[in-house]
Amino acid sequence: MFNNLSDKLDKALHTLKGHGKITEVNVAETLKEVRRALLDADVNFKIAKDFTKRVQTKALGQDVLTTLNPGQLMVKLVKDELTELMGGETVGINLGGSPTVILMSGLQGSGKTTFSGKLANYLKTKKTKQVLLVGCDVYRPAAINQLQVVGEQIGVEVYAEVGNNNPVEISKNAIAHAKANGKNVVIIDTAGRLAVDEEMMTEISNIHKAIEPQETLFVVDSMTGQDAVNTAKAFNDILNFDGVILTKLDGDTRGGAALSIKSVVDKPIKFIGTGEKMDAIDIFHPDRMADRILG
Ligand code: GDP
Repeated sequence: MFNNLSDKLDKALHTLKGHGKITEVNVAETLKEVRRALLDADVNFKIAKDFTKRVQTKALGQDVLTTLNPGQLMVKLVKDELTELMGGETVGINLGGSPTVILMSGLQGSGKTTFSGKLANYLKTKKTKQVLLVGCDVYRPAAINQLQVVGEQIGVEVYAEVGNNNPVEISKNAIAHAKANGKNVVIIDTAGRLAVDEEMMTEISNIHKAIEPQETLFVVDSMTGQDAVNTAKAFNDILNFDGVILTKLDGDTRGGAALSIKSVVDKPIKFIGTGEKMDAIDIFHPDRMADRILG
C-alpha cells in the first residue's frame, strides 16, 4: 500500500535525518522533494503546495534549525500534516435509526457490491446487527446475482425484486421488509455507471430523497487517483454524502485519492477495502495511515 509514496517521502526526509544541524535552505529543499513526492502520488498541485507551506511554517516556528534532531522533528511535522490531510480524526458510521439505512453510491466497478457485503459481514460479526442487503441495480441482473452470491457467502439475507425496475420502490419495500422481519440495518447497493451521467445522478438522488438514509456512503476505487477525487466531488454535490469508502487500497502504490479526497469534499474516509475477500475491510484511521506511509 502506497509503496511509491513511502519510498519517495523516505528519500526526501532521509537527507535531514543524519543532520545534527540544518539550515533554512535544507528545510526548503527537503520540502520541495516532499511536494514532488505528493505530486507523483497524484495529489492535486494546490493541495501539495499548501501542505508543504504549512509544514514549512511549523518547522520554522518550532526552531527546527536549532533542535538537536531536526530530521526527527521534520518527520513528525510531516506525519502530523499527513494525518490532518486525511481527516485527522477517525469517524465511524451512524448506526442510529430503526432500522439504520445505509445507501451505497459510486461508479460501476468501484467496489460497491463487494463493500456492501463486507460491511454487512463486519456489522453482523462485530456489532451483533441483523442486516438486510438490498439489490437495487435494475439494469444489470448480474449485479443482483453477485450480491446474492455475497449474501450467501456471509449468511446475510438479500432483498431484490425481479421485474421491478423502480429502485425507489424497491428501496422502500426493502425497508418495510426489514422492519417486518426484525432487521436493524438495511444496506442498499445501487446501480453505477462507468462515468458520472445525469441519469445515474437523478436516480441515486431520488432514492436518497425518498428513503432519507442515516448514512450515505460514496465508494471509490483508490487507484484512480485524481479521477476518484473528481467523481467524489460530483457525487457530493448531488448527495452531500456522509463518508467515503476507499476500495482497492491493496493495489494502490500512490495514495493520491486517500490524500486528496478529504480536502476536496470535506467528508471523512470511513472505511477502506484491502482485498477481494469479505474480511478485507478496515476502519480508516488517518494517524495510523500516516504512520504507515512514513514507515
Ligand atoms: P461495483 O460495480 O461497484 O459493485 O463493484 P464490485 O463490488 O463488483 O467490484 C469490482 C471489482 O473490484 C471486483 O472484481 C471486486 O472483487 C474488486 N474489488 C472490490 N473491492 C476490492 C478491494 O478492496 N481490493 C481488491 N483488490 N479488489 C476489490
